[in-house]
Parts: sequence; C-alpha cells; structure tokens
Amino acid sequence: MKAIVIGAGIGGLAVSIRLAQKGYDVEVYEANTYPGGKLSEIRSENGFRFDAGPSLFTMPFYVDELFELCGEQPGDTFQHEELDIVCNYFWEDGTRLSAYSEKEKLYHEIEEQLGINPNRFRAAMDDSRIKYELTGRIFLERPLHLVKSWLSWDVLKAIFQIYKLDIFKSMHDVNKQLLRHPKLVQFFDRFATYNGSNPYQASGILNIIPHFEHHFGAHFPKGGMISITKGLHQLAIRQGVQFHFGQKVERIIIENEEAVGISVSGAIKSADIVISNMDIYPTYKKLLPQQKAPSAVFENERSSSALIFYWGIDKTFPELDLHNIFFSDHYKAEFESIAAGGIHEDPTVYINISSKYHPKDAPEGCENWFTMINVPYNDGQDWDNLIQSARKNIIRKVSRILGEDIEKHIIFEDILDPRKIELRTSSHAGALYGTASNDRMAAFKRHANFSSSVKNLYFCGGSVHPGGGIPLCLLSAKMVEQVVR
Ligand SMILES: Cc1cc2nc3c(=O)[nH]c(=O)nc-3n(C[C@H](O)[C@H](O)[C@H](O)COP(=O)(O)OP(=O)(O)OC[C@H]3O[C@@H](n4cnc5c(N)ncnc54)[C@H](O)[C@@H]3O)c2cc1C
Repeated sequence: MKAIVIGAGIGGLAVSIRLAQKGYDVEVYEANTYPGGKLSEIRSENGFRFDAGPSLFTMPFYVDELFELCGEQPGDTFQHEELDIVCNYFWEDGTRLSAYSEKEKLYHEIEEQLGINPNRFRAAMDDSRIKYELTGRIFLERPLHLVKSWLSWDVLKAIFQIYKLDIFKSMHDVNKQLLRHPKLVQFFDRFATYNGSNPYQASGILNIIPHFEHHFGAHFPKGGMISITKGLHQLAIRQGVQFHFGQKVERIIIENEEAVGISVSGAIKSADIVISNMDIYPTYKKLLPQQKAPSAVFENERSSSALIFYWGIDKTFPELDLHNIFFSDHYKAEFESIAAGGIHEDPTVYINISSKYHPKDAPEGCENWFTMINVPYNDGQDWDNLIQSARKNIIRKVSRILGEDIEKHIIFEDILDPRKIELRTSSHAGALYGTASNDRMAAFKRHANFSSSVKNLYFCGGSVHPGGGIPLCLLSAKMVEQVVR
C-alpha cells in the first residue's frame, strides 16, 4: 500500500512516520527545499541562528512518542529540557514577574512582585486544570467527526459539568471575574494568542491553555526548535520514508470519487491514499478545484499572524530569559487594532532568545533576538508601511522598559511578515494557526481529518486542528492514523 503525503511540515513528518510504521510505503512531496514548513531556521553570515517560527515547546511527549512508536529511545537522538522559568513578564510601570514553572514558586513570585495574595491566581489555575480534565482528551486527541468519539463516559461527564467550561463567556470576562487584578487578567488573557485568537471574543473554555504551560511545562529542545524538525525528518528516513524536496504538488487526482494520486511537475504519481499537510484552504482551492469544499473552509475567520524581526544584538541582557513578554498598556485596543486589520502603536512584544540556552546561536557577547508581535492575517494591507512604524514602536517600547537604546545594538536584521509566511508555506493569508478560535463554537467547526466525499483522501496539520501549534499538528497526524485504520 502506497501513501503520498503533500508537505513536510511538522504534521506531514509525523504522519509519514506513523504510516510507515503501519507498513505503508510513504513518499513525501514538499514544495520547499527543506523540511519543517513553519518550523525551520534562518542563519546570518555574522554568526547568528534563529528558529524561524515556533519558539515555545509544550507537551514534548507527543514528539517523544513518535520515537517510541519506532522502537527508539527519544533521548538518543532528540533531547529537551524543562524550563525553570517559563516566561519573564515586563510592564511599562516597572513591574516584572518571572513565571516559574513550579506552581508554588510562581504563587510566591506573584505575592512578592505584585504584592497580592495569590489565592485567586491559584483558583484560576485550578479552573484551568478542571477544564483540561473535562475536555482536553475529547477535543485534542479524538477525531470529532467520528460518532464513536462522542460515545464515551468522559463526554457524558463533560456534558453534566458543562457549566464549568464557560463556553458562552469570553475568556476575558471569565478571567476578570476570577482574577480581578489587571496584570493577572492580562497574564491569563494572553493565552488566547497561543492559537491566534482574541481573548475579548474567544470562549472561556480556552482558559484550558495555562494548564498546558504550567502542568506539562515549557521545554527547550537541545539545539533549538529546529531539532524537532531535524529529529523527525531523520526518524522518518530511518523508517524508509522517501522525501522529494522542491516538488510543488499541482493536483490531487480523483477518479470515481477516490484519491488515486497526485500531479507534480507535470507527472502523475499514483498512491492508494493521499494525505494533504498543506493548509486546508489552498488544498481545496488549488489541489481540488473540482471538489466542493465544506462552506466553513472558506468562511471561518483566519487566526492572527505575526511580524518578526530577527535581530542579532551585540550585547547580553541578564534580565532577559528564553521567553520574554513586554505587555502593552492598551491590551484591549491592541486586539481591536488587529481585528480591524492594523497594528496598535503600543503592541505587546515577545522576545525569544535561544542563545540563552544554546550559546552557539549567537557570537560571544551577543544574543539572537526573535522579536515578535501579533498582527492580523494578510488582507492586502500596506505591510511595508505597517512594518516600518511597528519597528519604531517596538524599539521605543523595549528601550523604555530595559532603560537602554536597543537600536544601536542591532547588528543583523531579517524580517518575517504574513505575506512571507504565506509565500513560504502556502498558509492562507499567512495565518499562524489556520482558523481563529474567536467563534464560541470554533472547536466544533474544524475540518475533519478525512474527506467525506472522496475516498482515501486525508488531511493533517494545523489548519485541520487549529490552535496550539506543534502539539496539535502532531495529534492531527495521530488522528489520520486512526481514521486510515
Ligand atoms: C512565527 C510563528 C510562530 C509560531 N509560534 C509557535 C509556538 O511558539 N509554538 C507552537 O507550538 N506553534 C507555533 N507556531 C505554529 C506552528 O508553527 C504551526 O502550528 C506548525 O508548525 C504547523 O505545521 P503544519 O504541519 O500544519 O504546516 P506547515 O508548517 O505550514 O507546513 C506545511 C508544508 O506543506 C508544504 N506545502 C504547501 N503546499 C504544498 C504543495 N502544493 N506541494 C508540496 N508541499 C506543499 C509547505 O511548503 C510546508 O512545508 C508558530 C508559527 C509561526 C509562523
């Protein structure tokens, strides 16, 4: 039995490993000359290395289990360590907070830095855990489009306790009620951005996300995020998967309502099953032009995108860690600007510095700053202008908070914006996570991992398991394995 996978993003790599393990003869066709899709890297000539896309690694056991599935010890070829500090938070008024992974240490830090009793924060963390326990496995690990996924005791349990899920309230309203303190509300609201959503609109059920970060921890793969791509690519090769890079698939061939292969570079390649790891929107638009797509594919709102400045900095900043957030003083207005297709003049800035954990990523005495803000998906905005003013605002903000003019320390710069994200990965409108989860019923609107009209056609990756990034892409590959079975 032969399987063709379109795309070597993290979802495509994972599904190729799973199918090879099931005995399929797997071939992967990838448009780029490298694997990983969004999870790739860039290098500068003056000695800086940057992970190009994802920087936060949670739930590493979903990567480890792929090695175990193939009879390998994950630690032999792919290693990661848990972070003591998940993220350092900075506010304009001088407040700083280190979010320790260990909860008791974090509660103590809240007491010290904010001067408040952490009991409300503790309760909000408990609320996050309860939401995860009630719904996590149902929504994360099961194909929602199979009836059998709903026929279980845990679904019944969740239905009986639906009032605990806050589905019909916004995340922000739930957080305001639970936490009261504006900085802690902001801390919890920010988790909406982990799937490209807006906390003032998205359902309160997304308050499940803090539990992922503080229960399962944040991790750093040895060698940087790119090690995930490299590790899985090599694992796939060891399972006999064949990769064809620089090969952009043009069509999925359908005969008698059955996928029978693909067309690539003018040639037809036959297969018994076809799996698309390409974003579901262009999969229908470009590879399946004759097939009617479910209306949600084109109508669902896209998730937000990102504007990233990869800065080589000729100085080290001891107050910064691997993950750092400089909060906007105008958080609601920032999301309103994004919803309106623009960028607020006081954006929340995220700086990831992998050289803190992997010193080889920057020359001695320097740091590699992956400086990112959330921006809208590409809707034809004047990006060149938006980028110029965002750059100025980011530099002013970070310089203000760190008390140092950072512009004069930038010795390398590269930029990623929504247009480039789309160009490099075919992700519609440059959205990071497929569709947004702003709609209260978003979780139910995701596309199935299989086609209901075409036999032997499957889908995996972020756009069919929106939100959450890498772990959910890996889970979507697991679901494909289940439905192929
Ligand atoms: C800037 C940024 C920051 C992020 N931060 C995080 C984070 O901190 N943590 C996290 O977990 N997630 C994060 N994410 C999200 C995460 O990167 C994605 O969820 C995940 O990498 C998507 O993987 P995928 O397999 O769905 O698709 P992609 O990575 O988009 O890969 C799809 C692949 O298909 C290929 N392809 C497309 N069309 C064709 C075709 N016609 N023929 C052949 N090949 C084709 C593309 O070239 C690409 O390689 C971030 C993303 C970005 C861009």
